[in-house]
Amino acid sequence: MSENQQQKPITGRIFNIQYFCVHDGPGIRTTVFLKGCPLRCLWCHNPEGIQRRNHLSYNARKCIHCGTCVQVCPAVHKMIDGKHTVNRNACTNKGDCVAACPAKALETVGRDVTVQEIVAEVMREKRYYEGSRGGVTVSGGEPAMQPEFLLDLVREIKKEGVHIALESSGMCDYRVYESVLPYVDLFLYDCKETDPELHKKFTGVDNRLILENLRRLYAARAVILLRCPVVKGLNDREDHFKNLAALSRELPDLMGIEILPYHKLGASKAELMGLDPQEEYEQIPREESDKWTEAVRSFGGQVYAVS
Ligand code: SF4
Ligand code: SF4
Repeated sequence: MSENQQQKPITGRIFNIQYFCVHDGPGIRTTVFLKGCPLRCLWCHNPEGIQRRNHLSYNARKCIHCGTCVQVCPAVHKMIDGKHTVNRNACTNKGDCVAACPAKALETVGRDVTVQEIVAEVMREKRYYEGSRGGVTVSGGEPAMQPEFLLDLVREIKKEGVHIALESSGMCDYRVYESVLPYVDLFLYDCKETDPELHKKFTGVDNRLILENLRRLYAARAVILLRCPVVKGLNDREDHFKNLAALSRELPDLMGIEILPYHKLGASKAELMGLDPQEEYEQIPREESDKWTEAVRSFGGQVYAVS
């Protein structure tokens, strides 16, 4: 490329930017959610992040069945017996119906952005990062599904001197981690299930590559917090807690293990997106999830204390 040629800005697809987050790493943080995920967790809390493409969300509770969207986009929207229905398979994501809906019942989930746009957005909060020892977290979906965008994003944010956390399912080509390692200060690394068969049952993939990547990342001296979603009736088992404890003994420089109890938010989001209904599991009180944390500790696991 000649010196005069401008490099095309790298574009990625995100589905949210959340400000003032306090559970996605230290301090006050801005979390950027990238679209696309290779897993299909039964309890997925961010189903709007699974598909790579943008997606039409329809909120039946807000809809006043006025029929405006039917006039704007009859291929997708129909009124049947006075009720609004959506055929997302015909949707091209032009967004005309979203703009026309008077009740704000329609929304396009997902937008294409350049790295520069994201950096400008997240840097508006820099004073909060500085005051709280916080920073920016990149999450998803699985951020490694957009490797070029991810690399450019963390490199550009790091130029601003901001702490970066990367939340990842572990399911990716290790070369993606290798590329971002110089810029990422903390990996929030998921360990959803230690039994390979059950991992496949719960997430759609087995955990071999995930554990292999974890060990490689650890050997590369990455700072890693192991985050473990626990769902009552699925993985709140003693053998799983024992295996987690064994993993933390094998990798003693991990920041620790954090138990994340299930919450129901994903089920309602799946409904808005018209995805297959998600089974709702029991949401348990803090005292009960504290017992899970205690169980991991009692088996010799190093637990990350959250206040
Ligand atoms: S890894 Fe995260 S985004 Fe992907 S399916 Fe599981 S919970 Fe959802
Ligand atoms: S335009 Fe909005 S409120 Fe009217 S029928 Fe369509 S989705 Fe419902």
